[in-house]
Amino acid sequence: MKKLRVAVLGATGSIGDSTLAILAAHPEAYDVFALSGYHQLDKLLELCQKFIPERVCVPEASVDEFAKLLSDNHLNIDIVSGQQGLIDIATDRQTDVVVAAIVGAAGLPSTLAAAKAGKRILLANKEALVMAGQLMIDAVKSHQATLLPIDSEHNAIFQCLPAHIQAERSQIHEGCFGVRKLWLTASGGPFLNQSFEQMQQASIKEAVNHPNWSMGQKISVDSATMMNKGLELIEACYLFDLPEDKINVAIHPQSIIHSMVEYSDGSFLAQLGSPDMKTPIAHALAYPNRIDSGAQPLDLFALNALEFIKPDEQKFACLKLAREAMKSGNGATIVLNAANEIAVEAFLAGQLGLTQIAEINEQTLVSLPEMLPNHADIDDILAIDAKARQISQNLIAKAR
Ligand code: NAD
Ligand code: MG
Repeated sequence: MKKLRVAVLGATGSIGDSTLAILAAHPEAYDVFALSGYHQLDKLLELCQKFIPERVCVPEASVDEFAKLLSDNHLNIDIVSGQQGLIDIATDRQTDVVVAAIVGAAGLPSTLAAAKAGKRILLANKEALVMAGQLMIDAVKSHQATLLPIDSEHNAIFQCLPAHIQAERSQIHEGCFGVRKLWLTASGGPFLNQSFEQMQQASIKEAVNHPNWSMGQKISVDSATMMNKGLELIEACYLFDLPEDKINVAIHPQSIIHSMVEYSDGSFLAQLGSPDMKTPIAHALAYPNRIDSGAQPLDLFALNALEFIKPDEQKFACLKLAREAMKSGNGATIVLNAANEIAVEAFLAGQLGLTQIAEINEQTLVSLPEMLPNHADIDDILAIDAKARQISQNLIAKAR
């Protein structure tokens, strides 16, 4: 069988690590065609040495430095740079699969370009759907792309849907196929059993110390505030074509059930596994087949009780904000995502308390009740994103 050529955008991150571990274990099935990295260029160089991709993308300012590193190490790899470089890789005729694993809004243009180029997209970059869900889904449909979620919850839901809906790119529509509700599970993060007052005092180290998953810094902070579940709620609305009130969130501190589909006959279908991103990534890479992901099999006899808790939306206000933003429309989800990226950055820079992230997000939403015009394109979306970032920055400067 022909090998699939894979472009890993965000190769130096946590999802990049898990993806490359699977690709390395299956050289007979996959070729690493291209890699991208932004911060850790030393790590990117090591990945280039290991996988010898044909193309590598670095930030514009790092091209000369990286070209020297490649030549010092006798590596003959094409360098591309910046957002255009990411788009070039994502749309290259030689690319079969795009792993969209860049964090934040920076991942949107290349993910959208991959959809327009009809690629098979393994989507980790949930922010792309939060910002441009309709545009993404429309592009996937009209260019016969294949969008497979690797966010563990969405991948779990995908796996629990009937095969024909999976094949029709997982869109459910309200009330169809006997689906009554989707249930997103959430770990509850490091502050589940702490008071709001304790959360107010949280240090950066405490906030990024996730109990079950090892992830990048931004998503770890998002998990601590439960903004991550809010973003995932919006992601699920677009992916599965359901309104927000058809999607419930249950805190499940063990992170064994990765999400569920509730059917009208009373059946709940769940996907279980060890909390290891290699499982959803391997599922999406091989879909509709199955391959060894390298994840530890679940030891059922070692499990204790599985718990489910209703989230406290006062304490985790970001979750409520996300639901409200989804109800009010795409302008609000763009604003929320942008405000949150800026607020998380400020928290990680020691400029803001953890619980102030929700305050900044809410105030930005109030200050910018922006509606997205019908048939908006990516420039309209990026314009709202830029305005929201500016407002969020001003609010943070005042709050300090
Ligand atoms: P990470 O911080 O570990 O890695 C992010 C990657 O994006 C790195 O390769 C980094 O170099 C690159 N990057 C950062 N800023 C960039 C920019 N401005 N331009 C281009 N590249 C840039 O993050 P992660 O945990 O791997 O998460 C990546 C995405 O996957 C996020 O959207 C996250 O929400 C999603 N996700 C992650 C997990 C997880 O377990 N880590 C689970 C589900 C979904
Ligand atoms: Mg997730």
